[in-house]
Amino acid sequence: QRGAGTQIFKQKDLNFQKLGIGGLDAEFADIFRRAFASRVYPPDVISRLGISHVKGMLLHGPPGTGKTLIARQIGKMLNGREPKVVNGPEVLSKFVGETEKNVRDLFAEAENDQRLRGDQSELHIIIFDEIDAICKTRGSTRDGTGVHDSIVNQLLTKIDGVEALNNILLIGMTNRKDMLDEALLRPGRLEVQIEIGLPDEKGRVQILQIHTSRMRDNSFLSADIRLEDLAARTKNFSGAELEGLVKSAVSFALNRQVNVADLTQPIDEDNIKVTMVDFNNA
Ligand code: ATP
Repeated sequence: QRGAGTQIFKQKDLNFQKLGIGGLDAEFADIFRRAFASRVYPPDVISRLGISHVKGMLLHGPPGTGKTLIARQIGKMLNGREPKVVNGPEVLSKFVGETEKNVRDLFAEAENDQRLRGDQSELHIIIFDEIDAICKTRGSTRDGTGVHDSIVNQLLTKIDGVEALNNILLIGMTNRKDMLDEALLRPGRLEVQIEIGLPDEKGRVQILQIHTSRMRDNSFLSADIRLEDLAARTKNFSGAELEGLVKSAVSFALNRQVNVADLTQPIDEDNIKVTMVDFNNA
């Protein structure tokens, strides 16, 4: 069973550890149920149920928690190719009208496809990082020009206005959900909102496993390292910070091998071991 243009992924693909995403299984299950389960069914079943597919989703939460990782993965699973990723501040232009044009351009491909192929059009996934940069609450900016208002309106028109697209999935991401224009979060727009928070202890173990697996496989990780202990000592670390911790520990281990007095000396690869002391230093 599959919806038009949608490649449905298999259960066996849903091993997030393997995909390099730790501690977000519950969030993914939530995303799947709320935004994608309906895409498994053919369009006529969906229309007989009297519902329509979710066209927008917001992933929000602190920096470095894996929002981009999970959004990209969702994109790849849904239509088998890398989704388009754009960044709010990049779309924002200082020239009048230019930002609205940039927003329109983002949707041009989906628009052409819909015009040419109608219901057979592919699903176009657009990941919008830092969406708050262009979708601040209307009337909240103090420049008094109304420029922001017209950008928000432009985006809303593409999602559910008169010229609305039916073949898009917009995944917005932000660390500042509170700054977003309320209108963007209404049903039919970025209606599924999922918080991607800091990982709990079990999640931290998974993330540390992901970021140390290669060095473990290549025998660079000392046997005394207990990732569970590290996870217990890294409360409030984000995934990105845990990755940073691992990198820093490795830098201490490598530094030990370098002969500072003579940098031309070859490094003995067999002696590289990342130990608990390195993690403590990090
Ligand atoms: P921001 O809000 O700052 O854009 P983000 O939530 O989108 O951050 P990512 O860009 O997905 O965060 O994460 C940055 C990096 O941190 C990732 O490339 C990855 O290496 C690591 N990382 C973050 N979260 C996780 C996670 N849950 N599992 C594994 N690695 C993670």
